[in-house]
Amino acid sequence: MIAVKRKRKLRCSFCGKSDKEVTRLIGGPGVYICDACVNICNSVLEATPIAFPGWQAMTDDQLLGALKIAEATVDATRSVLQAQIEELRRREVSWDAIGNALGISRQAAWERFS
Ligand SMILES: [Zn+2]
Repeated sequence: MIAVKRKRKLRCSFCGKSDKEVTRLIGGPGVYICDACVNICNSVLEATPIAFPGWQAMTDDQLLGALKIAEATVDATRSVLQAQIEELRRREVSWDAIGNALGISRQAAWERFS
């Protein structure tokens, strides 16, 4: 990971804030995370036992408290996937090749990502 300097318009992959709205933005392969989201992650790690005991061991409040973070993770992953596909389409890679890479039909890939 590298610390990103504020040159281009970048966004946190987790909360969507731009580089101008956060103090620091850290880049990984195809993703960025801001200082505030790192703090949220640290809180989650501190609150979560190292040996994950399973959902059954968590209280209702713990599970409810984790929902928004889980949803943000799903959204961030989805936006990374979408960005990768948009780059492939920009390079004129076919929907057939994209569908093939995902193990779905050309039509399904087009419907899902175009
Ligand atoms: Zn963030």
